[in-house]
Amino acid sequence: MPSSAKSSSPQIRPATADATQNPRRIPAVERLLGGAAPEDLAVYGRTALTEAIRAVLARIRTEGGPVPDEAAIRAEATGRLAAERRPSLRPVFNLTGTVLHTNLGRALLPRSAAEAVAAVMVQASNLEFDLGTGARGERDDHVEGLICRLTGAEAAVVVNNNAAAVLLVLNALAMRKEVVVSRGELVEIGGSFRVPDVMVRAGCRLHEVGTTNRTHLRDYAEAIGPRTGLVMKVHPSNYAIAGFTAAADPADLHGLCRARGVPLAEDLGSGSLVDLAAYGLPPEPTVRGALERADLVTFSGDKLLGAVQCGIVAGRKDLIARVRKNPLKRALRVDKMTYAALEAVLRLYLHPERLAEELPTLRLLTRDRAGITAQAERLAPAVAERVAGWAHVSVMDCISQIGSGALPVETLPSAALVLTPVPADGAARRGAGGRCKRLAERLRALPIPVIGRISDDAILLDLRTLEDEAGLLASLASVVPPTAGSRTAEDWSGNELRD
Ligand SMILES: *Cc1c(COP(=O)(O)O)cnc(C)c1O
Repeated sequence: MPSSAKSSSPQIRPATADATQNPRRIPAVERLLGGAAPEDLAVYGRTALTEAIRAVLARIRTEGGPVPDEAAIRAEATGRLAAERRPSLRPVFNLTGTVLHTNLGRALLPRSAAEAVAAVMVQASNLEFDLGTGARGERDDHVEGLICRLTGAEAAVVVNNNAAAVLLVLNALAMRKEVVVSRGELVEIGGSFRVPDVMVRAGCRLHEVGTTNRTHLRDYAEAIGPRTGLVMKVHPSNYAIAGFTAAADPADLHGLCRARGVPLAEDLGSGSLVDLAAYGLPPEPTVRGALERADLVTFSGDKLLGAVQCGIVAGRKDLIARVRKNPLKRALRVDKMTYAALEAVLRLYLHPERLAEELPTLRLLTRDRAGITAQAERLAPAVAERVAGWAHVSVMDCISQIGSGALPVETLPSAALVLTPVPADGAARRGAGGRCKRLAERLRALPIPVIGRISDDAILLDLRTLEDEAGLLASLASVVPPTAGSRTAEDWSGNELRD
């Protein structure tokens, strides 16, 4: 190798040649470390910094090309360390228009609930300890009274999620027995929760009755026999049967089950603790209403209820006692974090006049279009400034959804910022669809990723769920403007984003 390689062309060289034969070209690790900023040493530590510098030097040797100066090598090393330190699970802006988005973590907790969680996480708590008697307590006691008060149930248990609640009820009440279900309710509820499959796993035999569109009381009456452990109703969630349909009258079905001595359970899925119609929203079955027509009800903690992931079984005391005694309860039980958050959220329901303000899920669901449109128009110029050169910004009416299976056919009028990617100068090198995909990638790569939805070759940011406007603008400020003249929006490529 020539020793005067300083101005050599950026061709690939044999690996390690520079390092071994021309130490001036690739600086020594010790030298780079010696010049490291004390803050970087303090934050990352000498060990990690050394490793990162070695990794950068290895990259330079492998890739060849001009050797960056020392400052650039250090910056690359600390850049790697910063990227490694970034948590895998982190906040995003959910501007998809789906308020309860399962992939984006469903319900948002009110601050008070998050603080309650933090308090019991950093200190011991009375999770299973009765402060009155000094004896062992029961973890469900922290929320059971509130659930009963808010739903009219006699008793309640909490487990990992609603799928677990259904599994537990089936196993506790109908193992090796038959469960009678209408063919119109044998649904699959996203993410591999299929009612027939859960039955099998719970050790129950499914006894289907009726047809997909029509099931009558007499179908249930004929099916219930000595082998029946449970009759189950399932809220069809993200699925609606319309047209020539019939279902047994709920009160009649409950009467039939009572007369035959068979418990009736209803899986509500979302299930609300309040009448959503009172808040101007489309009605959704309430837990209280369901308990008037069923002995047990199962529902999620992080859907309309607006708390954290958990499943609640509420209803008749004798049946809840059987559920609680089941060994699966131990396997499906929840942590103190869940109780702390759930209790704090349930308490908000004791003050219904302020619920739409205090509970984020309800606050977001009850926003009206006029307010969201005004917000969009107010934010549009600042957003346009931040994405200048990459996209045009306009405001458009759109439709949000509740999500998580609630109200499948109902919609919420909303408004969105529309980000339309700017085409390249001259002939488009990529189609509008490709530009849009890259714009979405760019938004996902921001410090706090921004998740919208793609529609008609534009990205819609539904502002129904935007509360932290300053945070959004700050995150968008990291969008690197295109260099005037040298690049176009077409250069906004996915590869650039991933560094
Ligand atoms: C969502 C849903 C479930 C599953 O609830 P998770 O809390 O997600 O486990 C079960 N049944 C119905 C009807 C649902 O809508």
